[in-house]
Amino acid sequence: MSTLDKRGVVFNIQHYSLHDGPGIRTVVFLKGCPLRCAWCSNPESQRPYPELYFDKDKCIYDRGCGFCEKLCSQGAMINGCVDFTKCTNCLSCAGICPSRALAVYGREMSVSEIIEEAEREQVFYRHGGGGITLSGGEPLMQAEFAIELLKAAKERHIHTAIETCGYADTAVLLEAARYLDFILYDVKILDERKHERATGVSNRLILKNLEALFSAFPKTPKLIRTPVIPGVNDTEEDIRAIADFLKPFDNYRYELLPYHRFGEKKYKMLGRAVPMIENRLDEKKFQQLRRPVEQ
Ligand code: SF4
Ligand code: SF4
Repeated sequence: MSTLDKRGVVFNIQHYSLHDGPGIRTVVFLKGCPLRCAWCSNPESQRPYPELYFDKDKCIYDRGCGFCEKLCSQGAMINGCVDFTKCTNCLSCAGICPSRALAVYGREMSVSEIIEEAEREQVFYRHGGGGITLSGGEPLMQAEFAIELLKAAKERHIHTAIETCGYADTAVLLEAARYLDFILYDVKILDERKHERATGVSNRLILKNLEALFSAFPKTPKLIRTPVIPGVNDTEEDIRAIADFLKPFDNYRYELLPYHRFGEKKYKMLGRAVPMIENRLDEKKFQQLRRPVEQ
């Protein structure tokens, strides 16, 4: 099998993006994430496999449909609703739903299929140094696939970037970095216990990996980002601690991202509880936080 045939699970490909690295970019969202941030607005990115979702607004059960009920051997479809506690995610019902109320997040794609899509957009990349960005979820959760994708892009002289939470095997991250022209790296909270509470994992590996990246790839430009989450890390102390941690390094920019509450409906469509998080990030407070630290 050629490395171009290697397959991974992708949940979206976004074209002409202007926010995920330099220039105009094709962003490939890989499924799977080791973190469980309470504020995640893409819950469909978290599990590493294709998964069923149900959009009740599209269901036409009340107009006499009910195909899914007849098909589901688990009894998970009742009266135009999914009982996710019974659903085994076999995905058969997604293929027969006439209104696409039942559908699947994520599909397998090969390296060559993605590269073909990217090559079609190469004409746009030329303006402003655009290219391909791997995002997620955490793209390095599908490490072999992600690295082959980056390699194939580099062989075709396509500019490469990654959006990573940094929670990956250090050797994997450094291997990926060999094929990266630009790195977008999230540092969410410096306090380890707070980080663990908010994301489900310690930040030790994330910080160690960032140091390793700065040391092994000092010339690769990096954008370090902190999403500012109300009630989680929206204090001067939290942000200052991250900015101070970054001070000894060179060749990076630091940026705060405002939190916007999206994704509630997607949690419901996946049969999951919507995490509790304060809704509003005060704009004035956000500006006060960013002014002294951004560069
Ligand atoms: S097949 Fe689709 S539209 Fe029909 S009842 Fe089931 S979910 Fe609703
Ligand atoms: S995915 Fe399979 S188990 Fe789940 S509701 Fe559909 S048919 Fe039933």
